[in-house]
Amino acid sequence: RTASQTSESTSTDSDKTPVRVDSQDSQVSDSDTITDGHRWPRQNSLSMREWDIPFDELKMNDVIGKGRFCTVYRGQWHGDVAVKVLNVIYLKDEKTLDHFKNEVSTFRKTRHENLILFMGACMKPPKLAIVTSLSKGMTLYTHIHLRKDKFNMNKTTNVAQQISQGMGYLHAKGIIHKDLKSKNIFIENGKVVITDFGLFSVTKLCFGNKDTDSLGIPPGWLCYLAPEIMKSLHAHQPHDEELPFSKASDVYAFGTVWYELLCGEWPFKGQPPEAVIWQVGKGMKQPLANLQASRDVKDILMLCWSFHADDRPDFVRLLNILDKLPKKRLARSPSHPIHLSRSAES
Ligand code: ADP
Ligand code: MG
Repeated sequence: RTASQTSESTSTDSDKTPVRVDSQDSQVSDSDTITDGHRWPRQNSLSMREWDIPFDELKMNDVIGKGRFCTVYRGQWHGDVAVKVLNVIYLKDEKTLDHFKNEVSTFRKTRHENLILFMGACMKPPKLAIVTSLSKGMTLYTHIHLRKDKFNMNKTTNVAQQISQGMGYLHAKGIIHKDLKSKNIFIENGKVVITDFGLFSVTKLCFGNKDTDSLGIPPGWLCYLAPEIMKSLHAHQPHDEELPFSKASDVYAFGTVWYELLCGEWPFKGQPPEAVIWQVGKGMKQPLANLQASRDVKDILMLCWSFHADDRPDFVRLLNILDKLPKKRLARSPSHPIHLSRSAES
């Protein structure tokens, strides 16, 4: 669509004021797109530059976490930041760099209270890094699995609601998280902050899979994978494009986080990967017989873990369901002594 077409099509509609297209603006550059008479810079062109942080401007402090493909540093750039540096030794080709730039362009579209603040990226090889605000809180993983903190039902629901808010926003923007897990959810003074959305292929799978087991599966990942993804894991080198991630597979992962919040552990705990893949692929679910929770609460799990992607609710519906869960008064109840132990309320 060119500028003149836009102005013509608008002016034929006699009821509406035609959108003015400046003659200067009608000189459309290669990198621009015209929609509704506006000129929008295309992704990856000029507009990328404002997110480009020169690597030299970053002050790197200590390492917070290290994987094979990236290292996260505490850093300084106009204040405290987290810098996720990609180990570019694995950067195989130009296509991977494009992939990285694409994922960054996805990241920069996000502005929501429950999502980590994206600040910019270093996009000149060999220094590739993503700069976000530094979360001062602990991850849900640390709370649940390391500290063994217990969340009462009100807190559990509140955390789930905040996750759903952030995820609902991402999905409304057309962004699939692809790696929703308790390690990517921070809790800061009661506020949920989700990280690492849309970065999965660059940080996990693009550069090879030496850090993974024989099936190409990064550790601690399986129980978040929906059946349709499990079934496509057979290829030796799973690549993001080959894995059928979707909004519905994010909802499946949310179900697992909901289970962690309720039970304090992962589903299929202690079972070998092959057994988990087989069961989930066949539509089997972690039994809930030992889970002491109401029908409504268990129903959320069953819905999110539905075998067919179409049967899983979206986050709008999940928020609706979570809103309707009965709120317990906070009085200490002797029949639920578990909630009196170390609390993660703070
Ligand atoms: P994973 O999500 O599998 O733990 P990451 O590479 O994403 O692996 O993160 C490595 C470490 O860095 C983790 O301990 C994570 O909690 C920490 N981390 C990542 N991003 C941030 C951030 N924005 N603020 C504080 N810590 C972070
Ligand atoms: Mg992470």
